[in-house]
Amino acid sequence: MTALIFARSLMDRVEITVLESPTVPIIGVGEGSTPWLRGFFDSLGIEESEWMPACHATYKCGITFADWSTKPGFTSYFHPFASMLDNLTMTQFVHNVEARLNGANLHAHPDRFFIAARLAAGRRAPKAPESFPFDVWHGYHFDATLLGQFLHKKALARGVRYKSCHVSHTTLDASGHIASVHTTEGETIAADLFIDCSGFASLLIGQALKTPYVSFAENLFNDAAVAIPTPMDDSIPSQTVSTALSNGWAWKIPLTSRYGNGYVYSTQFCTPDAAETELRRHLGLLDSAVPARHLKMKCGRVTRHWHKNCLAIGLAAGFIEPLEATALLFIQQTAATFVELLERGDLGDSAHDHFNQQVNDHFEGTRDYIVTHYKTNTRQDAEYWRANAANRNLSDGLKKLYSAWMTGKSIAAGISSQVIGRGYPVFSWYSIMAGMGIFPEPRELRPPTAREARYNLAEIDNLLDRSEVNYPDHKHALAAIAPRRTDASLQIYFW
Ligand SMILES: Cc1cc2nc3c(=O)[nH]c(=O)nc-3n(C[C@H](O)[C@H](O)[C@H](O)COP(=O)(O)OP(=O)(O)OC[C@H]3O[C@@H](n4cnc5c(N)ncnc54)[C@H](O)[C@@H]3O)c2cc1C
Repeated sequence: MTALIFARSLMDRVEITVLESPTVPIIGVGEGSTPWLRGFFDSLGIEESEWMPACHATYKCGITFADWSTKPGFTSYFHPFASMLDNLTMTQFVHNVEARLNGANLHAHPDRFFIAARLAAGRRAPKAPESFPFDVWHGYHFDATLLGQFLHKKALARGVRYKSCHVSHTTLDASGHIASVHTTEGETIAADLFIDCSGFASLLIGQALKTPYVSFAENLFNDAAVAIPTPMDDSIPSQTVSTALSNGWAWKIPLTSRYGNGYVYSTQFCTPDAAETELRRHLGLLDSAVPARHLKMKCGRVTRHWHKNCLAIGLAAGFIEPLEATALLFIQQTAATFVELLERGDLGDSAHDHFNQQVNDHFEGTRDYIVTHYKTNTRQDAEYWRANAANRNLSDGLKKLYSAWMTGKSIAAGISSQVIGRGYPVFSWYSIMAGMGIFPEPRELRPPTAREARYNLAEIDNLLDRSEVNYPDHKHALAAIAPRRTDASLQIYFW
């Protein structure tokens, strides 16, 4: 991704070489995206009809979170990707949520208000015919290894050079910049700029430049995962499902060829063997010989993503656990923002600091959103969940947000003006807090006033009923993927 983003703008001015170890495999997971991936392919002029079948890709309308809350009526909710139709229902959703927070007995579960939730529930594709002018902002699911191979070929075709070699060590110059890297094959490779995409090894930014690292372990406990594929159903879902288990959560990601499944958990609370057994039980595979793949992961970030003449991208720069599938977005945005700076020739100290601050704010804001999934859980069945709910290691922004919410105030302005708003838009925060059922207890609710009850839910149901039928069955849509229409008019209302 990084090589292609650089090549897109700079190929006529620079030489780009990707070095990749023949002995260190890619992490090989990461099969869900946010809607921004669509912008990545669009900017490269690569059509869905080309890359999706090659990568066994499917559409993603959002994520269902199952069993994170035990509150009646809120044991599952859907975090939707935004759509143009949400402009017609967002106000009603936020109004009802705020009224319920203030004690009115009104329906305020997010699933009822968003077309994406309907499409996901009905296994429909977020792709309406051109005659229906409402676009749904969607993400994708894909086979990570196939996507890597696809992008590799594209990069070569666009002039990127590739060397299979293992970097053994690095030489710094007198000012502490990276002068060259050395390979076990005996080569010394010098360059003006080094981009560290070496995964959790963090060879250059971490090991060579010793850039300080901020761990997120105090509020994101998960540090391991185990993955097992299963066969696809007759029809193909258009959503990721994240189900809370005893010591973490299980992902279920539909591809055209299989489901990717995995359990992300904390080794403080559970052994890898116990996690594998629980995942097998969850998938109905206790007696199956299908092999499981175990992975370790580290959540946190480097303090300077651009340090000296090194830019860190991907896991080398940091990682927030994959609950909302945000890592590829970080790769895309970090690389694209850096290329903009290069194009502007803006490489001074203030650009440097501003860039690092921007990426760090994006990390922190996203981290806070992920932390909220854990902090708001009401499960009492395992020490893991009780420890998450009791965790007081929260950012100041998050504390302010929770306190505004618990006192029935609007959280919109606070989100937009703070770092927590750099990760997720306002409607996502309303969705998570409402979806987890963070409201007064049912016995404390009172009948709504006429003003509070001014929106008619039947009208929203009707609007969504009429809209839903314009979106095709997901499996059929995948079989018929055609070159996409250009959509200059797409506007998303980020409330
Ligand atoms: C459990 C889990 C689930 C995830 N799910 C998602 C998801 O749903 N969505 C999402 O966006 N992201 C997800 N991610 C993150 C995603 O997998 C990564 O961001 C993505 O794969 C990019 O990884 P990377 O290229 O930074 O590192 P890697 O895939 O680890 O690649 C590192 C590269 O560096 C090379 N290398 C290493 N050492 C050397 C050396 N000495 N010399 C030369 N080359 C070297 C390796 O050969 C390899 O090619 C997930 C991660 C985990 C752990």
